Amino acid sequence: MTSPQANEIASLINRLDRLVRYVDKREDLNPVQWETLRYLALANRFSQTPSALASYLNSTRGTVSQTLIALEKKDYVERQASERDARSLQINVTRKGVEALSVDPQMTLARAIESASGDHLMDVLQSLRGALRLLIGANGGRAFGVCQSCQYFRSNANTNSKQPHQCSLLNEALSDVDSEKICAEHQA
Ligand code: SF4
Repeated sequence: MTSPQANEIASLINRLDRLVRYVDKREDLNPVQWETLRYLALANRFSQTPSALASYLNSTRGTVSQTLIALEKKDYVERQASERDARSLQINVTRKGVEALSVDPQMTLARAIESASGDHLMDVLQSLRGALRLLIGANGGRAFGVCQSCQYFRSNANTNSKQPHQCSLLNEALSDVDSEKICAEHQA
């Protein structure tokens, strides 16, 4: 049995999600295409792949493939061979995609949350992160997370000042920017 407050919060999250979709006036991007662009902008280079995207969106490879084809046709993303494995694809956001993200309708929601939460913003963030972790744990999905909280992250392990950190799982050097992106291989 859940409390009335928890039920109301769940309903509010659903209503907020629908409101964001309503304020999206950009006709050539549907909600899933927005989600895809947001993910690709947040993900590190090892996770800008169709399989990681499918895992993040809790979707199928086929659906993700169709979404990427549509975005590519509209010049929001482009494919290239992965730097790590030439047989794999890496999907990058194009300049047009970056411009679209600069007016992302989700920012309207972010501003409203910031304004309404005041000093409790971090509490709201931690609660929602915790709820996401529980749901992902129950569904057996990947958590995704940033390097700072990953067991494989070796901070300042390299003398290379542009890529001072190291991923001990993928055996790759990481820049400060890399280490702030989300990763499909993340292990808390
Ligand atoms: S340290 Fe963890 S989060 Fe960072 S790239 Fe490696 S596996 Fe991914």
